[in-house]
Amino acid sequence: MIKLANYSQGRWQEGKGSGSTLYDPVLGTALASVNADGLDIAACYDFARTQGGTALRALTYAERAALLKQVVQVLQDNRDKYYDISTRNSGTVKNDTAVDVDGAIYTLSYYAKLGSKLTDQSLRLDGEPESLAKENAFASQHIHVPLRGVALLINAFNFPAWGLWEKAAPALLSGVPIVVKPASATAWLTHEMVKDVIAANILPAGALNIICGRPEGLLDALNALDIVSFTGSADTAATLRNHPRLRHDGVRFNAETDSVNSAILGPDNTDAAADLLVREVVREMTIKSGQKCTAIRRIFVPEARYESIGKAIASKLKTITVGDPRNPEVRMGSLVSRQQKDAIIAGIEQLAANSEILFDGRKETTIQAAPESACVAPVLFGVTKPDTHPLAHKIEVFGPVATIMPYRDAEHAFELARRGMGSLVASVYSEDPQFMAQAAVRLAESHGRVLLVNPEVAKTQTGHGNAMPQSNHGGPGRAGGGEELGGLRALRFYHRTAAVQGAPDVLGHLAPSAP
Ligand code: NAP
Repeated sequence: MIKLANYSQGRWQEGKGSGSTLYDPVLGTALASVNADGLDIAACYDFARTQGGTALRALTYAERAALLKQVVQVLQDNRDKYYDISTRNSGTVKNDTAVDVDGAIYTLSYYAKLGSKLTDQSLRLDGEPESLAKENAFASQHIHVPLRGVALLINAFNFPAWGLWEKAAPALLSGVPIVVKPASATAWLTHEMVKDVIAANILPAGALNIICGRPEGLLDALNALDIVSFTGSADTAATLRNHPRLRHDGVRFNAETDSVNSAILGPDNTDAAADLLVREVVREMTIKSGQKCTAIRRIFVPEARYESIGKAIASKLKTITVGDPRNPEVRMGSLVSRQQKDAIIAGIEQLAANSEILFDGRKETTIQAAPESACVAPVLFGVTKPDTHPLAHKIEVFGPVATIMPYRDAEHAFELARRGMGSLVASVYSEDPQFMAQAAVRLAESHGRVLLVNPEVAKTQTGHGNAMPQSNHGGPGRAGGGEELGGLRALRFYHRTAAVQGAPDVLGHLAPSAP
């Protein structure tokens, strides 16, 4: 069994305790162990701040972008190995691994390219100077400077590759050293990628660090100028928010948490739009066995379509083969662990007690793996009274599970979507451009992203659940209130903004561009 060591202070260090074990969720075999007990976390952060941060900030944005490009090459060179680890540790079929591994490489390449075009040297100007006195004798200019602290990246189990690089790319491009703490259950892939990049000796010492496991004092050792970017459950986010370093010292915190995302069929209710919705729902329920924070959990359709759309989704779910991802006939692999399987089964039972079941994979799907594997077949629920249902807008069953509900009119659909109390994404399927534009504005009130799908974009649209680096990823309220990605917007989290007030000719010297 492989011991996943921690990379801190420029060297690999093993923890002192017994740690926890990572398993193959299908075969049940032990694969690796994580352990960071006894690691000197304060020394890790200090080395990252003083060595990594100083070296990164000495480079221009374009020079840091060039380093990201080299990291991309290392990841591409080792891609097959990452696919193998994902199959074994996350139970994913090839297409699902691609979402994580190729999604990571694409996101990193995107930031490498974006950064290569930045002409700023050591800071970024925010807009033009604003006059503060008559005849512009005194003015104010906002600037963004890379923050001097360390970025602690705490990630969820479902995206060990993308989850690392979608955060690391804007952080490193900004000149901020990172310490990644992957979720223990699937830490192997994150660890392997970090190991390969460290071995390639691309980044300055201290810029990239990894802590595996859950050591004491992870947050205690942060200081007020550090930041935390967290992805995981709302409960863990709440615990972390309560930590004195965050609550008292003002450590900046970004949270991406859970979300009950929606898909809405427009009231124009055309067959073409309905087909697009059905296809997207089935895709979203089954990619990565529904373990995507952005997956469709609630489906809203005009009352007249409730039954027919439910049947159309059910008949497609029936054709999905579920089981061991090593079997080429299998389209949907397993959940990441047997603990997750127990949680999903409990969630399904909770919803089943209050809803009708329109497709029950528990009865209709033969799982192509041993019964004790972490495979779970899809389940589609139907709720005919969505206004009063106790759970449909509340619980996120983090597996291949969704609920379809009827709405009366457009306002009703928007109101139901809002019941998620802040979600990452809503998608709208329609052939009425006016309705889609209206829906976008109304849904933006409570969503971080809105996807508008009509037949014109059927082939080109990037998918309800795909977080593209060009677009904001995050959502208000229950979704955590965070923001990630969205092109250069992502860099803001890793910079401090200050207003500089002075004579206009002095302000003019603030930011010489790179030659
Ligand atoms: P989780 O249990 O909240 O864990 C997330 C991370 O936090 C893991 O690395 C975990 O470490 C760590 N952690 C837990 N308690 C901690 C503590 N007290 N101090 C420091 N670290 C702590 O979430 P998960 O089960 O991995 O992920 C599933 C959830 O994440 C779902 O609800 C899903 O919706 C959400 N998610 C959201 C997004 C998004 O972008 N919005 C993306 C993916 C997933 P260990 O693994 O070592 O316990």
